[in-house]
Amino acid sequence: MGALDAERDDARRRDAADPLAGLRERFAVPDGELYMDGNSLGPLSTDAERTLSRVVDEWRDLGIRGWTDADPPWFEYAERLGDRLAPVVGADAEEVVAANSTTVNVHTLVGTFYDALEGTPAVLVDELDFPTDHYAVRAQLRARGVDPDEGLIAVESRDGRTVEEDDVVAAMDEHDVGIVFLPSVLYRSGQLLDVERIAREAHDRGIVAGFDLAHSVGVVPHHLSEWDVDFAVWCSYKYLNAGPGAIAGLYVDREHFGMTPALAGWWGHEKATQFDMELTYTPERSAGAWQIGTVPMLSAAPLEGALDVVEEAGIEAIREKSVALTTLLVDLADEHLPECEVGTPRDPARRGGHVALEHDEADRISRALGARDVIVDYRPPNVVRLCPAPLYVGFEDVVDAVAHVRAVLDEREYERFEPRDGVT
Ligand SMILES: *Cc1c(COP(=O)(O)O)cnc(C)c1O
Repeated sequence: MGALDAERDDARRRDAADPLAGLRERFAVPDGELYMDGNSLGPLSTDAERTLSRVVDEWRDLGIRGWTDADPPWFEYAERLGDRLAPVVGADAEEVVAANSTTVNVHTLVGTFYDALEGTPAVLVDELDFPTDHYAVRAQLRARGVDPDEGLIAVESRDGRTVEEDDVVAAMDEHDVGIVFLPSVLYRSGQLLDVERIAREAHDRGIVAGFDLAHSVGVVPHHLSEWDVDFAVWCSYKYLNAGPGAIAGLYVDREHFGMTPALAGWWGHEKATQFDMELTYTPERSAGAWQIGTVPMLSAAPLEGALDVVEEAGIEAIREKSVALTTLLVDLADEHLPECEVGTPRDPARRGGHVALEHDEADRISRALGARDVIVDYRPPNVVRLCPAPLYVGFEDVVDAVAHVRAVLDEREYERFEPRDGVT
């Protein structure tokens, strides 16, 4: 028996019993390729392709009449996508809309809530954030005359991988904080933060709580309404598989409807009177108010089909399989990849959908895996991210991925790749 053969037999049994296994054939993952990068860009599904083609047909057949005569009409397309995204994030239909890009949504929502605060309190983030979130918050502070070096406070990590909720709460007490804006899942280590607790602690102190769900939407269930989260943003091209640069999503708690969006535009105007073309802006009383310009139909259409797959699987079943896959991956890494360290929390309740394998040669290992058609990504300084996305990755794939890493290390295959400048 070769390495990992017993594990592979067991994994095959689990795949045979997996109720989600059949969904894989709807995704464009070539035979022989292990696509373990769905937390960066999910693959195309036949469902997403179908709705994209339908909208192209509508454009050809209806021209401008598509705004009213397509099914659903393009005029309300973003709201209809919001209706279907709402259960995925645990909110009411009116609280969710598909709109803009994630970065733009950070700008408009942080800006909106900052405008409603007294004085110039700080925005609390963490030092392991995805950079665009900091860029956007800093820009919003600057636009309000606040020095971002003063106004942006980043909670420090104790271990360089994770952020302790206790430290977030302590920072709320140490500083004059107006908004806490944190990710649900840290993009590098894969740590899942306790969104409910952070929102509760923030509200106990009169602080607004917003979250970036880019690395959890579609793989981890959320209960944004129940948890009283004030606002959230996310993208649709990772676990939701809506395509590169697809329209993003946002949530605003209904108690905040009627606020004036920081980045106002006509698509967020009260829908019933939008085409009256009044020069005075009246916000729609829903999350739809945070739309800006015309809904980008061609980057929204694939999300419609992509959501069919998520709905068919069910977000709870997706999470259950995700936890089983990442648990298997962590266990196999511990046993078979002693040179690597698992940088992701071992408690499944603190883990999103991907696993960080740490190794000093992470960059070259990632490239050697790519040459073996094992699609992963590298995040500096030392992380190989492996994402067993539950809609199209199975248990045997996880065993195979670990076997490939083992082979790359055994054969020192990564030495065939040149180190890159500035990358260790
Ligand atoms: C992927 C990701 C983004 C991406 O933002 P875009 O505007 O879509 O480029 C933003 N924030 C986080 C945390 C992400 O993981």
